[in-house]
Amino acid sequence: MNMHQYYPVDIVNGPGTRCTLFVSGCVHECPGCYNKSTWRLNSGVAFTREMEDRIISDLNDTRIHRQGLSLSGGDPLHPQNVADILKLVRRVRAECPGKDIWMWTGYKLDELTDAQHEVVELINVLVDGKFVQDLKDPALIWRGSGNQVVHYLR
Ligand code: SF4
Repeated sequence: MNMHQYYPVDIVNGPGTRCTLFVSGCVHECPGCYNKSTWRLNSGVAFTREMEDRIISDLNDTRIHRQGLSLSGGDPLHPQNVADILKLVRRVRAECPGKDIWMWTGYKLDELTDAQHEVVELINVLVDGKFVQDLKDPALIWRGSGNQVVHYLR
């Protein structure tokens, strides 16, 4: 998997203070996408074991309390990202007790593959669906267009 950006302290992408990772790769090609540079799987830089370790350590940093991890992109549920994202969310679950995981995807919850579901079963909140420009509404919280749904899973 490749990644574009990592913010160790982020108050914009999800509730509270968070760590946020933007991964590379998205097949949805939504008109009006504000993250077009992330579409190509080989854009950005490699997501390394060191980066994974850093996220775990930032989440557990007691000097700046983080509520959890936000995963966006690009699309964390791009079929070619699923294995690395699964590994990361498993580690967060095992090594960062009490931290929540939010994820943004262009796929719809009811259309996910078994492999994508395996990831979703380990996260707390999934914001799903493509960005639809005609349904864009700046008043919406955590989503860009009215068709997208914030699923509070657990
Ligand atoms: S799903 Fe998100 S990243 Fe992918 S094209 Fe749509 S708006 Fe852009």
